[in-house]
Amino acid sequence: MTARKATTVAIKKSTATDAKSYNPFEIAQQQLDRIADVLGLDEPTRDLLRNPVREYHFSIPIRMDHGGIQIFRGFRVQHNDARGPCKGGIRFHPLETVDTIRALAMWMTWKCSVVDIPLGGSKGGIICDPHNLSVHEIEQLCRGWVRQISRDVGPYSDVPAPDVMTNPQDMLWMLDEFETIHRGKYPGFITGKPPSVGGSLGRKEATGYMVILTVREALNELNIKPENTTASIQGFGNVAQYSLELYHKIGGTVICVSSWDPADNKTFCCRKKTGIIFDEIYSITDPWGTINRTKAQELGYEILPGEAWLEQDVDILIPAAVENQITADTAPKINPRVKLVAEGANGPTTPEGDQMLANRGIFLIPDILCNAGGVTCSYFEQVQGNMNYYWEEKEVFEKLDAKMTAAFHAVRDVARRRKLPMRDAAYVLAIDRVARACKDRGWC
Ligand code: NAD
Repeated sequence: MTARKATTVAIKKSTATDAKSYNPFEIAQQQLDRIADVLGLDEPTRDLLRNPVREYHFSIPIRMDHGGIQIFRGFRVQHNDARGPCKGGIRFHPLETVDTIRALAMWMTWKCSVVDIPLGGSKGGIICDPHNLSVHEIEQLCRGWVRQISRDVGPYSDVPAPDVMTNPQDMLWMLDEFETIHRGKYPGFITGKPPSVGGSLGRKEATGYMVILTVREALNELNIKPENTTASIQGFGNVAQYSLELYHKIGGTVICVSSWDPADNKTFCCRKKTGIIFDEIYSITDPWGTINRTKAQELGYEILPGEAWLEQDVDILIPAAVENQITADTAPKINPRVKLVAEGANGPTTPEGDQMLANRGIFLIPDILCNAGGVTCSYFEQVQGNMNYYWEEKEVFEKLDAKMTAAFHAVRDVARRRKLPMRDAAYVLAIDRVARACKDRGWC
């Protein structure tokens, strides 16, 4: 990771996560309300599930390299822990809002439940842009976040992990701070660590690879061979990169990827109709998934506007960046050839967008199923850490494949039996399990 201090740009509140026009937490609550009706949940259960059981807001003072103090805002939201300790990533993003974190925490509860792992849901974040921080400042932020929350997280209560713009090194600094405070070794406290210090093999690939595993199962349902398909991906960070890698291995061709450049707060796409060459694009991408536009152009890629990824003449769309991308405004721009949307990102489709995809007969793999490979592998890492016994990579991928394939078909079965769209089916399965756990514990 390189220290990049230059380009501090005032970030306009006009991108995808615009809090004024779009509130992910309200959307998450609406989704819950609809499924609560389908399941006939009683009032106390709805009330319990509509809101986080706990949330923490705090300030993190950091001495910056120039000597002055800057205060950063941090959060941890624990949505529900009836099925087990909370689990959820930590985001570093300049446009982060507590409502985004609340929504993501709720989606984590459903995600752990849909793949049937014994965990609840949480999420955390710090409002910051790591592009404008030195390595030392990022380390201080990671340690500062843990100092503020260390009494309320831990291997048996709430286990953090990486998410947007956080990485294995950040997780290791966080673990080190936690172990210093609690005076012991707690490798199960945090997941997504480097494999040399207790990280699970396969974790960095897990989310993207498992996105493609669900694509494989969906294509099978649609009677389409992967080698005859093309795809367009939004984003080129962790999830997008490994999705692209495995999709190419199973014979597909990605023709377009996109990226966000914080230097001018612009999103853009890189397209090559003959197929993106992974090594080429990866070599000009920074550690946070920002592709160098000028170099991409020099390598023969067409540079297109940020939304162009969903207009491409392809079979599969994989949103793998941020929330609120397939909306009433953008869904009509989706190319008529698209047959499958695989939600690598969390919450990329609004309810209106969802309806439009359904009207067009597009098969949707909902986020809580599609990108659940990440948390499933994190769970494996937690288990390995608590046992202090680590598995070979082959064993990790075999276990992931088994869990994800079973979850895909469990959702597909509910969809068939109850005549529901895939998203609703995933929610019915997940919310029913969580509601039962709450009832069995006597919480509602
Ligand atoms: P990342 O930070 O590695 O990459 C994010 C990518 O999205 C970068 O290429 C960035 O340039 C791009 N981007 C950021 N803002 C954008 C915008 N407004 N428009 C278009 N592109 C934008 O993040 P990631 O870990 O790959 O996560 C991507 C999504 O997947 C997020 O929704 C995250 O919550 C979800 N997710 C991640 C994991 C995981 O294991 N990393 C697991 C489950 C879900």
